[in-house]
Amino acid sequence: MKRSVRLAYTALILALLLPQLRPPRQSEAPLPEAEPATAAILPAVAPAPETVRLLDGGEIRKLPLQDYLVGVLAGEMPASFEPEALKAQAVAARTYTLYCGSGPKHPGADVCSDPGCCQAWRDDDSLRRDWGEAYEQRIGKLRAAVDATAGEYLSYEGAPVFAAFHASSAGATEDCGEVWNPQPYLVSVPSPESAAEVPHYVSRLLCAPLDFRDTLLAARPEADLSGEPSDWLGPVEHDASGRVATLTLGGVRLKGTELRKLFGLRSTAFTLALTDEGFCFTVTGSGHGVGMSQYGAEVMAQNGADYRAILAHYYPGTLLVR
Ligand SMILES: [Zn+2]
Repeated sequence: MKRSVRLAYTALILALLLPQLRPPRQSEAPLPEAEPATAAILPAVAPAPETVRLLDGGEIRKLPLQDYLVGVLAGEMPASFEPEALKAQAVAARTYTLYCGSGPKHPGADVCSDPGCCQAWRDDDSLRRDWGEAYEQRIGKLRAAVDATAGEYLSYEGAPVFAAFHASSAGATEDCGEVWNPQPYLVSVPSPESAAEVPHYVSRLLCAPLDFRDTLLAARPEADLSGEPSDWLGPVEHDASGRVATLTLGGVRLKGTELRKLFGLRSTAFTLALTDEGFCFTVTGSGHGVGMSQYGAEVMAQNGADYRAILAHYYPGTLLVR
């Protein structure tokens, strides 16, 4: 009883604090500006644990959470990024780790080291080997970002959030509901990165018509690709973020996410055209597009935003707790 009263009280406080912690409306907002967060970091309902169980190469390793997060930063974000972007990544990675640890994703482990499943992680030996003389400077910078945000994570309704992140967006992030189950704090918001900051921001993939047909038929045998290649392309529907929601090919409507997987596209922000050389996908950005854009965070930090403003922008409605 006491506990439920306390929880209700906490929820009430959170509800009262929510409006002032929300970033400004994003729909017609210009690109994010430097906006130092002023609200206090709230006490967490449950503190972040000291250790993490990491599934790596078929084995479960028990690591201090802070050490693990340094390895995640090394795998997920260039050490050359701004300190505030690295701090935002540290909080997002800590939050994601806690979120996974509370679910049944990996029996006996909280997270795995496969970036396609959970988040990337580099062990110290491989970093020393790859970074050579730059090791001390780089690891020190990553460690500083993790230490400066020790214990901090993003919370929604008292629990760690699904803090998804990705490399770069195409003008706006993706609504989580277009990729996975919708989340109130994972909605489409503007993201400021461009080809000026992001390597290979726009990529192209050429596919000969016969390869295109074989790839499509292997996944969707019901598609009618018997006529001329120019007849295969049907209407495209875009979602609110501008990415491909569905594209009809050979009379079959495919989701953008399905096409991304099928052809190994870097994102679902693409156009498809038939050229003299074959089918050409032109793709903008990299990753699923949900949650924080890492390059977007870097550009925001370059423009003076602190990590809390970055997190509030990409995860609107969440609370930073410790
Ligand atoms: Zn995993």
